Amino acid sequence: MRQKKPRRIFSKLLLALFAFLAFAGAFWFGLVPQRLSPFPPISLEKPPSFFVDARLSSLRFDSALCQSVLKQPHIDATAIPDRNLESGCGWTNAVKFTSTGGAKIGVEPLTCEMAAALTLWVEHEVQPLAKEMFGQEVVRLGDMGTYGCRNIVGNPFWKGVRSQHATANAIDISGFTFADGRSISLLKDWKGSDKESEFLHKVHRSACRYFRVALGPDFNAAHANHFHFDRGLMWTCK
Ligand SMILES: [Zn+2]
Repeated sequence: MRQKKPRRIFSKLLLALFAFLAFAGAFWFGLVPQRLSPFPPISLEKPPSFFVDARLSSLRFDSALCQSVLKQPHIDATAIPDRNLESGCGWTNAVKFTSTGGAKIGVEPLTCEMAAALTLWVEHEVQPLAKEMFGQEVVRLGDMGTYGCRNIVGNPFWKGVRSQHATANAIDISGFTFADGRSISLLKDWKGSDKESEFLHKVHRSACRYFRVALGPDFNAAHANHFHFDRGLMWTCK
């Protein structure tokens, strides 16, 4: 039998690699509409078990699909009009809401895709852990904002680059308030070895499934008092 030439095998491998990268890149940029996706649409009802990032990214440019995913009682979201990009600032396919995953928070605007990710995280990660560790639910999320026409702060390497906040594709969370009125904050409770610190570290780790960037106080001084979550094009969980 004739052996295949190593060069031909290498070419095929290279082609397969390019095909894989193109496939992954299309999902990464949110370019694969649900009708072309091999994955089922994401649902807020239960924690998604596979290809979470790819399924969330299919919501990016499909406002009708995204609105159909953001359902009561998981979130009380309402669509808001787009604001055309100007100097890198504005938003498309965004919503406003006052509660997510059973916790109150006043948000406007946040991209629909981010709202879905936030709801999945609060309902299926934060709330079960709060019940397990403290025997009660989180009733309010500390909100430090979503939209801001500004650049990335706290990192000289990214100086001059627009933050995901400039397109309402990010949210900053400062802490959690429980049903009995007790509060846990990033600034006060992140460090240490008590239950509050453990809770914050665990919810931070669990956020990395839903958000591409999930930064906390260990990342840099600019994040000492909040989690920063976004679904931009970078991937960091620190
Ligand atoms: Zn932020």
